[in-house]
Amino acid sequence: MPVAVYDTKLPEGTPERMRVRFWGVRGSIPTPQAENLGVGGNTACVEVRLPDGSCCAFDAGTGARPFGAYLLHEADGAALDLHLFLSHFHWDHIQGLPFFAPLYAPTSRLTIYASDHDGPPADLITEQMQEPFFPVAFEELPAETRIEPIHGIDPVRLDAATVHPFPVHHTQFVLGYRLESHNASVVYCTDYEHGDAELDALLVETAAGADLLICDAQYTPEEYATRQGWGHTTWEWAARLAREAEVGHLALFHHDPAHDDEMLAQILEAAQGLFPHTILATEGVAVDL
Ligand SMILES: [Zn+2]
Ligand SMILES: [Zn+2]
Repeated sequence: MPVAVYDTKLPEGTPERMRVRFWGVRGSIPTPQAENLGVGGNTACVEVRLPDGSCCAFDAGTGARPFGAYLLHEADGAALDLHLFLSHFHWDHIQGLPFFAPLYAPTSRLTIYASDHDGPPADLITEQMQEPFFPVAFEELPAETRIEPIHGIDPVRLDAATVHPFPVHHTQFVLGYRLESHNASVVYCTDYEHGDAELDALLVETAAGADLLICDAQYTPEEYATRQGWGHTTWEWAARLAREAEVGHLALFHHDPAHDDEMLAQILEAAQGLFPHTILATEGVAVDL
């Protein structure tokens, strides 16, 4: 079934298919300057809504703030259940967590999954929210929270989805995720630098046939020439990867702070030359798979 992309108002109610919605698409640091806002200035946060109404998300960059406000508004006082998968602990993937409104509502139940590679994720999350960095301690939050460490690449089985983690080559240990549900699949691969032959092959294998691949595409090939080892790849590599893995659609993600809307439009056009079914991950845009 072809994907449907909504860049305006979404259809009402629970989607009939898996719906992926971008709340934060920028890499490294938020960029609220006017020339970036067509694509979006918030850092990584992606919602995955399943046809049974349940909700997952990847990362909690500053896009988690509007996402959280939306979830509470939608729940309208009813219980809210969310499964949040963190790729890693760089700021642009966790900075929205202290401002995620459902954490302050006793009606929320939030399960956070993250690798235990760099220590117990519960320690890292509670360290982020403590004096003198933040005035409210994670343990004091009214929501019911659970932090589940991911060991290696053990899959996470939820009622309506299975999530397969996989290691991604970056400056820090990163997990990518392939989420499968209701005969649809999305692969989230942020903060990825090509060049590790084993992990590049694993990525192609893991992404094979996915309906949507959300992939780091921070640099142009020209920029990458002076940024090797910084932990990110190019739109060109992402497009080649999408072709090799024969995915349905590619969403270019983790946009460089220096790339304004105009430049990203040029990048999109170039990427579509290699892989026609490419979109730019854009704040507010939703994709039904
Ligand atoms: Zn990042
Ligand atoms: Zn990173």
